[in-house]
Amino acid sequence: MSESLDAAVSLRARAVIDLRALRANLQHARRRAPGSRIMAVVKANAYGHGLLRVAHALDGGGREGAGADAFGVACMSEALALRAGGVDARVVLLEGVPDGAELELAARRSFEIVVHHDEQVTLLEHAGGSVRVRVWVKLDTGMHRLGFPPERARELHARLARCGAVREVAWMTHLACADDRRSGATLRQLERFRAALGDLPGERSVANSGGLLGWPETHLDWVRPGILLYGVSPFPGRDAAQEQLRPVMTLQTRLIAVKTLHKGDAVGYGGAWVCPEDMPVGVAAIGYGDGYPRHAGNGTPILVNGRRAVLIGRVSMDMIGVDLRGHPEARAGDPVVLWGPGLPVEEIARHAGTIPYELLCAVNRRVALVTRDDPALVYAAPGS
Ligand SMILES: *Cc1c(COP(=O)(O)O)cnc(C)c1O
Repeated sequence: MSESLDAAVSLRARAVIDLRALRANLQHARRRAPGSRIMAVVKANAYGHGLLRVAHALDGGGREGAGADAFGVACMSEALALRAGGVDARVVLLEGVPDGAELELAARRSFEIVVHHDEQVTLLEHAGGSVRVRVWVKLDTGMHRLGFPPERARELHARLARCGAVREVAWMTHLACADDRRSGATLRQLERFRAALGDLPGERSVANSGGLLGWPETHLDWVRPGILLYGVSPFPGRDAAQEQLRPVMTLQTRLIAVKTLHKGDAVGYGGAWVCPEDMPVGVAAIGYGDGYPRHAGNGTPILVNGRRAVLIGRVSMDMIGVDLRGHPEARAGDPVVLWGPGLPVEEIARHAGTIPYELLCAVNRRVALVTRDDPALVYAAPGS
């Protein structure tokens, strides 16, 4: 990338990724689940943080306890991107494969597959002689999304054990309410899982981030943290610091205009915010076209020069308005932070009526992803 283009990129929105914080969060997960192996979930471009950057930073190179023990992705394209980027670690396709061609591809690249419905078992039974894969059987213990009824575990085990394409069987289920520490659903799911499996052989995995941090009983052989790795609390009403997690992404931009408006002036589309007095107003270069939530309303906090200010008016595609009362020093070019250390994405999500997961995943390819301490553009989304 040319120098002039780099400079242009730095003037608009960027997401700065702190890989030290990412690794610290993985170590925190290890301390909280010391007896479990870790499948680091990196689907959806590592929750918007850049798949390869994140995977390389977390990859333990196969050494026990050195990093993640495996990576979890949603689909084949994500798994292939890991291999193409030089990641040799174990990779699990969390939705499995839809047909024989993908099954063969998975076997060739040593991907492990989740099996959650009968057609996928049939695929394995009819696979060509060269196919040998590790299989994770997903049981539906109460989420009612993917998975077999738990009472079929024994029959499935018998079928898969006869199947030449299956190298090894492990068991998993997914928790629906682990983010609610008072809910009884999590322990009911765990109990259904245990009862269905009894003494069947194979490793077991239940816990997502909520399970890992909130429900030690769910740790078992493998934990599958996603959101906590990125320094976000899975629990509504609690932020990262309360869970001893460090935010990994700082979403930042700059003021591109500062002006004085008059009492009664309306700001932005629809005139949705009206100045109550003569006042300084800034315009920052970020909008829903970058993935900043359009539903972030008046009063959503942002940082200008490291101090709190608030958003005013409707979020546009490329810009937001900022109330600069209390910021008399603010000038065009000054740095603006939308979320990151000092401004929890959890708080922004509450203002936008959504969850941090959605905000992080929504940051799109118009936003330059850069690694902290390395100002070069290090990652662009596939195809960009
Ligand atoms: C996404 C996902 C996870 C990670 O969930 P978090 O809440 O982000 O920790 C774990 N397991 C499965 C099957 C998933 O799809």
